Amino acid sequence: MAPFCESCGVYMKKQGSQTRYFVRYEDLAECFAAFKAEMEAGQFRRAMEVHADAGSRKLDASSGYSLRAEIKQCKGCGKQWSSWSRCNG
Ligand SMILES: [Zn+2]
Repeated sequence: MAPFCESCGVYMKKQGSQTRYFVRYEDLAECFAAFKAEMEAGQFRRAMEVHADAGSRKLDASSGYSLRAEIKQCKGCGKQWSSWSRCNG
């Protein structure tokens, strides 16, 4: 379901996505917790940086876990929105 910007009355457009892979579930959980803390503090850019710096960019045989972020933005006011999916192996 596409996110809707209440103040502009439009659906947000996809801006990009970012996936990071993790060998251990603990590493994924740690990244997700740090990301969530930044989001709750309203630090969208910081949250994306936390995710970008974590884990590995590439999938290999040892990385069984992934955390994918999809970023959307309102064309009207520039408000950003993200959805997250965790994959456990
Ligand atoms: Zn808007």
